[in-house]
Amino acid sequence: MDGIKSNKVIWKDGTAKNITFIVTKDCQLACKYCYLVGKNEKERMSWQVAKSAIDYILDHKSDFNEESVIWDFIGGEPFLEIDLIDQICDYIKKELYIRGHHWFNSYRFNFSTNGINYDSEKVQQFIAKNREHLSIGITIDGTRRKHDLNRIWKGDGPEKGSYDDVVRNIPLWLKQFPHGGTKVTISSADIPYIKESVLHLYSLGIHEVNINAVFEDVWKEGDDDLFEQQLTELADAIIDGGWYEDYACSFYSENIGKPLDPVYDNTNWCGAGRMLAVDAAGNFYPCTRFAAYSLRSKKPLIIGNVHDGIDRDKLRPFLTLDRTTQSPQNCIDCEVASGCAWCQGENYDAAESPTIYQRATAICKMHKARVRANNYYWNKLFRKLELEGRREEYEANRKTSNPILPC
Ligand code: SF4
Ligand code: SF4
Repeated sequence: MDGIKSNKVIWKDGTAKNITFIVTKDCQLACKYCYLVGKNEKERMSWQVAKSAIDYILDHKSDFNEESVIWDFIGGEPFLEIDLIDQICDYIKKELYIRGHHWFNSYRFNFSTNGINYDSEKVQQFIAKNREHLSIGITIDGTRRKHDLNRIWKGDGPEKGSYDDVVRNIPLWLKQFPHGGTKVTISSADIPYIKESVLHLYSLGIHEVNINAVFEDVWKEGDDDLFEQQLTELADAIIDGGWYEDYACSFYSENIGKPLDPVYDNTNWCGAGRMLAVDAAGNFYPCTRFAAYSLRSKKPLIIGNVHDGIDRDKLRPFLTLDRTTQSPQNCIDCEVASGCAWCQGENYDAAESPTIYQRATAICKMHKARVRANNYYWNKLFRKLELEGRREEYEANRKTSNPILPC
């Protein structure tokens, strides 16, 4: 038990390993923007596969030497498999204790859920049991009309939105996780609703709204202008309405829109390869975006399995990725490069050959539009604070948000 010093939760945020169980490829919804092209009801993880994955990871302690761990559960909709998840989490806790593992008391169970069965008895029992070590994000896209534009129920009948089925669970979720944030995904058709959606989420009591434009090549002529307009109007509403004091929106960050040094700012954007994902068949992936159900045009990129372990030769290319080796020259020289994200999975899927070394840049004009609106936001906010003599106080007290999210 040498790794166990006390019962206190010790969390080392910067050095956590992220391990994802793809427990099911099924979901109650059929969101139109969902990147999961191969969702189905058959591929559910068995207990045997889950146990083998945990045993492999815990048996190879020296290969997983990060100080903390995030056990991530995704689907489809993970809470469809709450019985399995409960069994997995109990086993992890027990094994960490028995083995005296350094992750004992330094772990989190993380969920992104559509929120539909959040209030079910089993999910609530699981939350009560693991409360100290849980983070749960419910995805709600904004106002009813924005949410229901994309997040519709699965099935052959007339299209039915899921807004009412999710929003009814928001008060319970916020009571249990007052700092819970939500993730919003923006595609071309959603742009006109951005401002009203963020303000609506704030009005529901959600303090942190994390928004991303999709990385796929979906953007139409004029989308960037409309995007900038929406973000500028939203900036006005946040500042004029005083929301900036307690609420955050990931679109605005002081760190984006600057040139990056090719030598000193050369890290890879995403965590693929430093994370590990396992699916129902027991295959390991560098991230869930490399599993078959996430890919439109490429074969899955499997880096091992629960029986044979991780194949280091397959993993190595991920560990040597940096910004300049995969970016075209115009991105390396770009004046507004900071905060311009990429997804390794989308890079791989969109590339001309099966490589992870070709950066997809479909997001380019949207990032530039975001930077223009972002400059407007900070200029306006700091001018207001300076006029009120509060800029220093604001900067000293504000929480550092997590403004640039890759996925
Ligand atoms: S994609 Fe466009 S905005 Fe992003 S770094 Fe490259 S050139 Fe700059
Ligand atoms: S950016 Fe894409 S590949 Fe990277 S961790 Fe996120 S989903 Fe995975």
